Amino acid sequence: MEIASVIVDVPTKQTDRAFDYIIPDQWRGTIQPGMRVIVPFGPRHIQGFVVGLNSESNVNKLREIIEPMDLKPVLNEELLELGNWLTEKTLCFKIFAYQVMLPAALKAKYEKKVRLAKRGTAQELPSNLQVFFENDRELDWEQAIKMRIVPPLQREAAKGLLEVVYEVKERVRKKHQRFVRPTTCINELLEAIQTIPSNAEKQKLVLQYFVKHYDEVELKTLTDELNTGRSTIKSLVDKNLLMEFDKEVYRDPYEHRTFERTKPLPLTDSQAKAIAPILYSIEQNQHEVFLLYGVTGSGKTEIYLQSIQEVIEKGQEAIVLVPEIALTPQMVHRFKGRFGDNVAVLHSGLSAGEKYDEWRKIQRKEVKVVVGARSAIFAPFENLGIIIIDEEHETSYKQEEMPRYHARDVAIERAKTYNCPVVLGSATPSLESFARAQKKVYQLLTLPSRMNNQDLPSVDVIDMREELREGNRSMFSRKLFELLQDRLAKKQQSVLFLNKRGHSSFVMCRDCGYVVNCPNCDISLTYHRVREQMKCHYCGYESYVPTACPECNSEYIRYFGTGTQKVEEELGKILPEARVIRMDVDTTGRKGAHERLLNDFKDGKADILLGTQMIAKGLDFPNITLVGVLSADTMLHLPDFRSSEKTFQLLTQVSGRAGRHQLPGEVVIQTYTPEHYSIELAASQDYDLFYQREMLIRKLRHYPPFYYLALITVSHENLINVVAATEKMVNYIRSQVSDKAVVLGPAASSIPRINNRYRYQCLIKYKREPNLTKTLKTILDQYQKDTKNGLQVSIDVNPVILM
Ligand code: ADP
Ligand code: ZN
Ligand code: ZN
Repeated sequence: MEIASVIVDVPTKQTDRAFDYIIPDQWRGTIQPGMRVIVPFGPRHIQGFVVGLNSESNVNKLREIIEPMDLKPVLNEELLELGNWLTEKTLCFKIFAYQVMLPAALKAKYEKKVRLAKRGTAQELPSNLQVFFENDRELDWEQAIKMRIVPPLQREAAKGLLEVVYEVKERVRKKHQRFVRPTTCINELLEAIQTIPSNAEKQKLVLQYFVKHYDEVELKTLTDELNTGRSTIKSLVDKNLLMEFDKEVYRDPYEHRTFERTKPLPLTDSQAKAIAPILYSIEQNQHEVFLLYGVTGSGKTEIYLQSIQEVIEKGQEAIVLVPEIALTPQMVHRFKGRFGDNVAVLHSGLSAGEKYDEWRKIQRKEVKVVVGARSAIFAPFENLGIIIIDEEHETSYKQEEMPRYHARDVAIERAKTYNCPVVLGSATPSLESFARAQKKVYQLLTLPSRMNNQDLPSVDVIDMREELREGNRSMFSRKLFELLQDRLAKKQQSVLFLNKRGHSSFVMCRDCGYVVNCPNCDISLTYHRVREQMKCHYCGYESYVPTACPECNSEYIRYFGTGTQKVEEELGKILPEARVIRMDVDTTGRKGAHERLLNDFKDGKADILLGTQMIAKGLDFPNITLVGVLSADTMLHLPDFRSSEKTFQLLTQVSGRAGRHQLPGEVVIQTYTPEHYSIELAASQDYDLFYQREMLIRKLRHYPPFYYLALITVSHENLINVVAATEKMVNYIRSQVSDKAVVLGPAASSIPRINNRYRYQCLIKYKREPNLTKTLKTILDQYQKDTKNGLQVSIDVNPVILM
C-alpha cells in the first residue's frame, strides 16, 4: 500500500500536522511530494500538500486521496524543506508556509454542490426537486440558496438520497490559443500549391506563407496577416496539409513593449573592486552574504546585472528582490533590457492570472531571472546562483501576516542550500545589516561615489519654528515657496514630499518643537483624539495633553498631522497656476494608475508632483530640480524605536531625487527639530556618522541590533480578559527566560482596538535565550487549542512594526 502524508488546508492548531491518506491504485506513481491533492476531511473535500510518501501508516482506517490537482509538483524538495524552516522560525502553521510560496491563483477556492448520492435515482425525489437532478445533474449550492430550496434538499439528504460535495476550483484557467502548422514537408507544400485551383488564391497564399515560414503560427496572426478567413485554413486542414491545435500561452504583461537590449558597461575601478568577491563566490559555489553599500547612482545595479550575467553563463538562476514601490517600469526595463525574455517579473500590479503565468515560466525553467517584490524570494528555481536584494533596508521585505517572514532571512537560508552568494544593496543599509558587516558576518563592499562624480544636491534645512515666529503660519516656508515660484517660472519640475504614515499622530509645540515623550521609553506619546489623551504604546504610560508647552510655555502645543489633500488645496491657493499631480493611496488605487501618473509627470503634464512615501523611489527625471520635504518630523516621532533610522533613510532617498542629470538640484527640508541628528546627518548625507550615533542609542535602550525582539499581541472583545491573559503570559515568560532578557508589558497596542477587539502586547528583548522558542510555542499551543475562549494570540519574531 502506498500512503501519502498530507498537510491539509485547515489552519488550526489541531490540524497543524501531516495526515495520512491512501493513494488509490489509479494515482500510484503519479502522486509525488510537493503536489497539491484533494482529500476528504470530515464531510468536506479540501486541498492539501503532499509532503511525503510511505509504505505504511500507524493509523488504521485511512481514507483515500480523491485526486491530484497538479500534474507535477508545485513545490520542489528544497521548498518543502524551507517550509519546515519557515514554520519553525516564524511559528506559523505549516499550511501557511506552503501557501505563501505559491502565486495567489493557486490558492484553493471551494464550491459547494448538491448531487444524487446514487446515480440515476432522480425519480425517487419529490417531483418538484427532480428537475434539478435529472441525468445526474448537480446543483450549485449558491443557486439552491437563491431558489430557497435548501430545507427540502436537507430533508432528502437526511434520507440519504442527496449528498453535499465540495469541489475545489482553481482560480485561474490557463489561457489557450489556436495555432496552425504544416503537416507535410516543404516539398509537398510546393507540390500542393501547383494543384490548387486558380479560384482558391487565398489557399495558395497560405501555403506560400508556410513555405517561407516553415513553423507554427497563431491562427489569428496568420489570418490577419494574409487577410484570409477561417474557412481557407479549414479547407487546407481538410486536405491534410495543415493542422490546427491549441497551445497554452502566457499572459505577458510586457508583451506589447520592446526593450532595447543593453550591453555590459566597462566597469569603473571601484565597481571592479566591488564585484570581484561576488564573482569569486559564484565561481567557487561559496555561500557568502555581501552588503553592497553605495549612494544612489553609484552603479550598484550595473554590478547586479553583471553578476547575474556570470550566473547565467554558469547555467544557474538568479532572484532579484526590489521593494514593491520601487518596482517601476524603469527598473524592469533595465533587467529586460539586459536579459530579454530570460526575465520574469512578479509584482502586485499584475493580475492574478498574469502573476500565475510569470510564475509558471519560472517553474518550467523558461526564464533564468526573476525580478520581483517580497514573495518572489520563493521563486521555484532549482539551481540558484545568486540572490540580490536591492534597497535591503526597506521594511516591506517583512511580511506582516502569517507567516511573518523577512525576505532577507529566507534569502540567506536558500542561498546556504545552493551554496551561492546573497547581495544586499543599499545607500542607507539597515542598522542590523551594517552592524553585521562591521562584525564581518557579512562582507562589506563599498561604492564611494556617484558614477558621474556629480555633486549631491545642496540641502537647506528650514526651521519651521522660526517661520512661525516671523508670522508665517502656512505649511510652506518662505524659502520653499520662493523656490517653487522660481521653478514654475523656469518651467522646471518640483517634487513635494509629505512624510506621513500610519494612524498615529503626536503632540508638538509649534513654537519650540518640543514633542511630548514617554518618561520611560524615550519614544513619543501617541495622541488619541477621542479621549484627548496621550499614551505610550510600549509601556502603557498615559498623560493628558498639556495646555501649555512644558519647555517654553507657549499655548501652540497640539497634535500634528497633515494630509496630501490638504496640501493640494493649499497649493491651489498660493500657486493657482501650478499644475499638480497628487500621488497617494487614494489616487493610485487602480491598476496602472501609479505608472500613468508618473508618465504624465515625466511628459511634463504637471509642474509639481505631490505625494507620500511612494514617490521617494525610482524617480529619475531630468527636469526635476527641486525637492521639498514638507514635514520631516512626522516620522521621527512615530512610536517606534526605528523612527530615527527611517527618517534618515527617507530623507536621504528623497534628496537623491533632485539634480540627477545636467541641471543642478536643490532640496528643502522643513522641520521643527533641525537639530535632530537624523535630520542634520541626512542633510549632509553622512551615513557613517548616523550609524555611530544611532548605535549608541540602540545599545543604551536595549534595541536591535544589540538585542533581538519578539512581540506577542493578544486580542479579545473584553478588555479585562485581554489584560488578564497578557499578564499571565508575561509572568509565564518571565519564569522561563534568563534574567538577561527584558520582558515588557502588558501594554496596549498602538492601535488599541480593531473591530471591537482590544489589543494588548508583550515585548521581549533578548540576546541569547535557547528556551524562548519553546516557551512561545507553549503559549501558542495553549491559546490556539482553546479558541472557544475567543482570545487571539499572534507572535512576531523580529518584528519590524511594533503596532
Ligand atoms: P545605483 O543602482 O547605485 O543607483 P546605477 O547602476 O543605476 O546606480 O548607475 C547609475 C547610472 O550610471 C546609470 O545611468 C548607469 O547606466 C550608469 N552606469 C553604471 N555603471 C556604469 C559604468 N561602468 N560605466 C558607465 N555608466 C555606468
Ligand atoms: Zn514650546
Ligand atoms: Zn513608555
